[in-house]
Amino acid sequence: MLDYTKKEKYDRTALRVNPAKTCQPVGAMYAALGVHECMPHSHGSQGCCAFHRMFLTRHFKDPAMASTSSFTEGASVFGGGSNLKTAAKNIFDIYNPKIIAVHTTCLSETIGDDLNAFIQDIDIPEGKYMVHTNTPSYKGSHITGFSNMVASFISYLSVSSGNKNGKAVLMPGFVNPGDMRELKRLATALGVSYTMLPDTSGVLDSPMTGKFEMYPKGGTTVEEIIALGNSELTLAFGKFASEAGAETLKKKCGVPYNLLPIPIGISRTDEYIIALQAFSKTEVPYDIEEERGQLVDILIDIHPYTYNKKVAIFGDPDTVLGITEFVLEMGMIPKYVLTGTPGDAFVSAAEALFTKFGVDGCIAKAGGDLYELHQWIKEDGIDLIIGGTHGKHIARAEDIPFIRAGFPIIDRYIHSYMPLVGYKGGMRLAEMITNALMDRQDRDALEEDFEMVM
Ligand code: SF4
Repeated sequence: MLDYTKKEKYDRTALRVNPAKTCQPVGAMYAALGVHECMPHSHGSQGCCAFHRMFLTRHFKDPAMASTSSFTEGASVFGGGSNLKTAAKNIFDIYNPKIIAVHTTCLSETIGDDLNAFIQDIDIPEGKYMVHTNTPSYKGSHITGFSNMVASFISYLSVSSGNKNGKAVLMPGFVNPGDMRELKRLATALGVSYTMLPDTSGVLDSPMTGKFEMYPKGGTTVEEIIALGNSELTLAFGKFASEAGAETLKKKCGVPYNLLPIPIGISRTDEYIIALQAFSKTEVPYDIEEERGQLVDILIDIHPYTYNKKVAIFGDPDTVLGITEFVLEMGMIPKYVLTGTPGDAFVSAAEALFTKFGVDGCIAKAGGDLYELHQWIKEDGIDLIIGGTHGKHIARAEDIPFIRAGFPIIDRYIHSYMPLVGYKGGMRLAEMITNALMDRQDRDALEEDFEMVM
């Protein structure tokens, strides 16, 4: 498929080929699914909504419920106000959500629909809510859309009553339900009382009960979002996905925040544990210390196989930075580090990691695409690729082992249940990386070198 990727580079200013991102509404829809009894609503054409739902459903292997304003030519000319009004009435009447979370699409943004005014004009039933966020896809990425939606839930709903509730807010960033469960497990182990926003665990990894549930058990409740204003502190994971929400809660309700990296790897998980400990003022339980010690032991054992191996990592900025630091902890060289989401902070954060670990000759790029990543690999090869499914063509074309981690992973199962965060997540990632490298060593070994113990 990628036979036409040329090794020689040329300047491209207005063209992306195989971008390492998708559109803003996909992220907004994912954030909305992390709110209990919420109907995500795509204000645009049915085609957009179908795409957003398909993208999430393929990754999570669970249906992503959502509705649409069903734009046709008329809405494109006269605006989508009446479509949204009709949609809201139908959705509340038929699907009975507690809240509708509207995000815009390219079309509604281009014609300039004023969602704020539309929602003010809608007759929202007693005890129900509507919120919205603007998600034009000609800028940002699904991470921007996710971040915007989280901030909008807070700016519409959260209030401070003046009485603190002793809780921390956990803003997990754009991670899988399995990661959210692990973040909550660690918070509970450290004795921290919390509310997580958004929380897709129990929604996009819900169990088979034999009964269709329009709104599965999981998700942050509207009451919990309202009460976020009474929290003591926000622990926000990932600058790109979570800072806007944390900043909005600080501005609106005076809740301070601690911006942490997504805790992938040892030192980032240590940071999270220290932050939890500072909040709850409890001792770190032995179980957690034991997990850390196990991960350190694993990294020592696998060091001969991972040391100095060159790796390309691509995907969402907060996740890529976490994996980058972890592979550096494993003694590997993150030769190419790329995200499709724009933002200078990504490059400076990646370069700070290269400096911290003393590695030279690595390239970091934000707003990049997989075509360019492929060109870099053709110029100077690597031992491993880590990223979402879209990297499989490069891996095949260049015959390089490939680890699926991040978003989207549409050609494998179970990944969204398994955390990458925390010491347990580190063990899993280390296992995947080492096994991929050892599989390659086995495959390439000469008959006389092929051994049971390598
Ligand atoms: S038109 Fe815009 S919002 Fe709709 S699917 Fe395409 S990029 Fe996403």
